[in-house]
Parts: sequence; structure tokens; C-alpha cells
Amino acid sequence: MKHEHDHDHHNGGDSGLTCRDTTHLVCSSRDEPLTPEQTAQLQTHLAGCDYCRVASQQFGRMFAQLDELFAREETPVLPAPQQGKKP
Ligand SMILES: [Zn+2]
Repeated sequence: MKHEHDHDHHNGGDSGLTCRDTTHLVCSSRDEPLTPEQTAQLQTHLAGCDYCRVASQQFGRMFAQLDELFAREETPVLPAPQQGKKP
């Protein structure tokens, strides 16, 4: 019996935010704004984690490039199919 594979949360632990949570927040903040609490947790984690700080900067740069790309391509926005309307 081995239980040695449970070393996933060696980083911090006082903010309640893991590196995975932080990355997820950075990603989702693009689609919808974070709550003040989430922003505070994010800032707290970024202040103490070099990895996530670099990652969030790279995300920001990547998103900016994507925006530029989409703005140039002008991808058509298809209307979502309406349900419940029967002829
Ligand atoms: Zn982190």
C-alpha cells in the first residue's frame, strides 16, 4: 500500500488558491470579470508565486495577440440556434 502520490499542494496553502486555480482564474477573467474576493486571492497568490506571475503575464500577452488576430480576421458571429420555436 502506497500513499506517496499526494504531494500536490506543497505550495503555500494559506491563500486557499492553488496554482491550477490561479491559472483558471486568469483564463476565466477574460470571459467574465472576477469578484473582488477572487481578485484579492489572485493578487495574493501572484505576490508569492513566481510561476503564476510569469504565467499570467504570458496569458495576457497571448490574449492580446489573439484579440489582434480576431480583430483582423473579423470572424463572423453566428447567431445561436433558438429552441422552442416550432413552425
Ligand atoms: Zn502559483
